[in-house]
Amino acid sequence: MIAEIIAAGSEMLTPFRQDTNSLYLTSELNALGVSVAFKTIVGDNLQHLTAAAAVALMRANIVILSGGLGPTEDDLTREAVASALDISLVRDEKLLADLEARFAKRGIPMTANNSKQADVLEGAEILPNINGSAAGQFLVTNVTDPLGNQHRRIVILLPGPPRELKPLFAAEVKHRLVFLVPERHMAKRVLRMALLPESQVDARTAPIYKQFPDVETTILAHAGEIQLHFQASAKTATEAQSQVDNLASLIKAEMGEAIFSSDNSSLEEVVLDLLAAKNFTLATAESCTGGLLAQRVTAIPGSSKQFLGGAVVYSNLLKTAFADVPAEMIATHGAVSEPVARALAQGIRKRTNASVGIGITGIAGPTSADTSKPIGLVYIGLATPTATTVTQHNFTGDRDRVRWWSSQQALELLRQ
Ligand code: ATP
Ligand code: MG
Repeated sequence: MIAEIIAAGSEMLTPFRQDTNSLYLTSELNALGVSVAFKTIVGDNLQHLTAAAAVALMRANIVILSGGLGPTEDDLTREAVASALDISLVRDEKLLADLEARFAKRGIPMTANNSKQADVLEGAEILPNINGSAAGQFLVTNVTDPLGNQHRRIVILLPGPPRELKPLFAAEVKHRLVFLVPERHMAKRVLRMALLPESQVDARTAPIYKQFPDVETTILAHAGEIQLHFQASAKTATEAQSQVDNLASLIKAEMGEAIFSSDNSSLEEVVLDLLAAKNFTLATAESCTGGLLAQRVTAIPGSSKQFLGGAVVYSNLLKTAFADVPAEMIATHGAVSEPVARALAQGIRKRTNASVGIGITGIAGPTSADTSKPIGLVYIGLATPTATTVTQHNFTGDRDRVRWWSSQQALELLRQ
């Protein structure tokens, strides 16, 4: 079974408002084993809304419309769906009386346009909305395709305000769907990798995930990280789980160490766990990242067991004062150099008595003080109880990106 969500409202076609209802509805539908195949956003226009509803009714088993159930001229969902299904709207006297009572209770006269909120799709169940005046509607009906074949459809109308839609879905829609939708269970799995290009991950993993047509695979790339999301639905939870697990283990065999987590934990968490397993402590001396690495590590609750702290040694003065980088070394090689990264890592490690020291120095841009060195050049020093290594990186992109990738690379070095 597949679903389509239609969000009605011209405001969501402007740069100022987003359709968030469909995110909530998608996660609820997924939990019932129903995948969302289409999402449509339509302005408050009867012709457009009718066309969108008609298309949705042809291609999805479940069609959920949100918004456009109010009393005003631009609330057109009821009319559009009735017209797409070629059925009539029936004024529900009980609903009308409830609306009148609602207004009377507040002591305000009910204007004529409000009565249309009592119009119900022929044959639909009314879903009482305790948080607003627009009731929801639930209809199971048949549509006929151009070849004359009949298809069963579930059509659900919900009010637009999220604070009305969510409780209404939970109280009135969910159990109706559980009853109508064949029992399916959904399993998900996420594999996360740092710093690899998306094209490389796809080239290596596509031949594997293509062999699993029943598992939906999505690649998400953002901020120095690639995530592979797997989702499967099956008759039993165990079956769904084994489908995603089988695929995940083949991908893990292909990508090996590049995968830093297969349980959705973050790179920061993985690094802290590894340090904890070795009973190691960490201290940082950061120049171009200005404490970003320390910020990311300390964002993890409990990081104080491993993370001693860090120094933001942005100036040459502080590189010397707080991490014992010899002033002559900076004068000879420049602050952004292999020896300075090494000295920062060793210096902060020694000063703090940490097991591991990290030193980061680089040029984040948009301009470079030392014109002989390119923007994006970053050196990262890693001093451990056994050795000190320095790696050189040439990151591309703007200042934010260079800084983020530097912190990401430092975490990757700590993981290895
Ligand atoms: P009302 O009786 O309040 O008019 P309605 O069903 O007609 O209910 P709309 O007028 O379409 O709902 O929307 C009311 C509010 O809900 C608006 O502030 C709108 O931005 C918000 N809203 C509508 N649809 C969505 C959506 N898909 N995602 C997030 N917010 C939404
Ligand atoms: Mg409205």
